[in-house]
Amino acid sequence: MEQTIATEKNTVQEMKKPSIYSLQLHELKEWLQTHNEKAFRAEQIFDWLYKKRVSDFAEMSNLSKTLREKLKEHFTLTTLKTIIKQTSLDGTIKFLFELSDGFSIETVLMRHNYGNSVCVTTQVGCRIGCTFCASTLGGLKRNLEAGEIVAQVVKVQQALDETGERVSSIVIMGIGEPFDNYDQMLSFLKIVNHEKGLNIGARHITVSTSGIIPKIYQFADENMQINFAISLHAPNSELRSRLMPINRAYKLPDLMKAVRYYIEKTGRRVSFEYGLFGGVNDQAEHAEELANLIKGIKCHVNLIPVNYVPERNYVRTPRNQIFKFEKILKEHGINVTIRREHGHDIDAACGQLRAKERKEETR
Ligand code: SF4
Repeated sequence: MEQTIATEKNTVQEMKKPSIYSLQLHELKEWLQTHNEKAFRAEQIFDWLYKKRVSDFAEMSNLSKTLREKLKEHFTLTTLKTIIKQTSLDGTIKFLFELSDGFSIETVLMRHNYGNSVCVTTQVGCRIGCTFCASTLGGLKRNLEAGEIVAQVVKVQQALDETGERVSSIVIMGIGEPFDNYDQMLSFLKIVNHEKGLNIGARHITVSTSGIIPKIYQFADENMQINFAISLHAPNSELRSRLMPINRAYKLPDLMKAVRYYIEKTGRRVSFEYGLFGGVNDQAEHAEELANLIKGIKCHVNLIPVNYVPERNYVRTPRNQIFKFEKILKEHGINVTIRREHGHDIDAACGQLRAKERKEETR
């Protein structure tokens, strides 16, 4: 593992100004018009932000000096400072970014044979309280604004620019519950998906929720063709409530009803994320129960051998047990894969790097 730790002073003192990355193209056009500028400048600005990926308004050379100054006066461009960059032996890169108010977030670049995928964070901390998760230690500090989520992808893309590579997909599975920051998350999706923005196709973007049911209905009605995943982790209510307290508020049968609505509305299949915790939810009877729960649903199951989380008491499921679990699901005709582990030699599980480096934030 290789790790670089930034030593420069935090010069990002512009927290009062919104991030320019928070604006959708039509919002930027409106802003320009209300500031006596031509709307078409918005496309030029998007080109500088997302195609040329500059890090200073001064570099936007086809804009007038007056406009560049106006932009600088109203918006911030450098919202994230790289504190730590850990590179794993398998190429996974984990970033710890500092926000303009001093909080920190994690972003991960994963290498697949089909391209480079970025896992983004949507909140500083999380209030959902899943018992296996380091991200929820210390609770929720604040929501990220859309531009702070967009900036994570831009930062990773800037790192890839050095080798001429591209970010080809995005997963919204980092720190936070995306549906607990719904409007900003939706704005983020529209910006990264826009052809003048980062132009990442909807089918290359995945959003995952722990199960905030009203938002699942709302998201289904957006009909965005984004890949949709549910963090399920248990095949029955009792066990799910133990692992994920959200299940007490949004119960499993109602969750499954919302999932069915989503599929009916969008015509798309869903993914169920199922973390395997040694001796907790990884036995043959759990696999049988899971198969029964999702029978007839257009879905895919992602089995995740969980990393040991030092702050929590869960242990890894042995390999042979993982394969046994997979086999049972397959025998029931369920589409299932075992997630390849990334960055095993770095603090790759969600929230681990932040929990280690920023103890004061996660207490
Ligand atoms: S797993 Fe996700 S939803 Fe659950 S506490 Fe962690 S960040 Fe929040």
